[in-house]
This record gives sequence, C-alpha cells and structure tokens, in this order.
Amino acid sequence: MEKTYKICQSCGMPLKKDTQGGGTNADGTKSKMYCSKCFENGQFISPNMTVLEMQALAKSKLQEMGFPGFLAGLFTKNIPALARWKR
Ligand SMILES: [Zn+2]
Repeated sequence: MEKTYKICQSCGMPLKKDTQGGGTNADGTKSKMYCSKCFENGQFISPNMTVLEMQALAKSKLQEMGFPGFLAGLFTKNIPALARWKR
C-alpha cells in the first residue's frame, strides 16, 4: 500500500506547494511521495545526487525564498531522515 506523505521524501518541500501536484510515476499517475522537481516518469531527476548536495540545494532555495540562514539550516537538517535517503 502506498503511503501518503505531506512533504516530498527527497527534498522536504511541502507537496501541497508543488504547482504540479507531485512528481509522476512511470504509469503517469501522481507520486504521493515525491515532488515534481525531484521525480518524473518514475525516476529521480537527479539520481546521483547525494544527501549533502540535496541539503545545500534546498537551503539555497529557502534562502532565495527569504528564509534566514539558521531557519533554512534547521529545515534542511531533517532531509537525511526522508524516505529517499534512509537506508
Ligand atoms: Zn522534492
């Protein structure tokens, strides 16, 4: 059974904020786990990205959106706990 997540399990972005309504699975349905910026046609858009790179990217995106650095750091701290990075 597929679980429904509130935030993208790759980058931590709230899925509700995704203008595309989520990434797409290989069969064309919407992913309930990943956003459209991370996941397309059943595959990660940047499959070789490391968790550290994702944290840096998310942090810079948040700062672009006007979040202060310490808040962006706090928010991205939880990225390694998301399903994509948990091993
Ligand atoms: Zn994402």
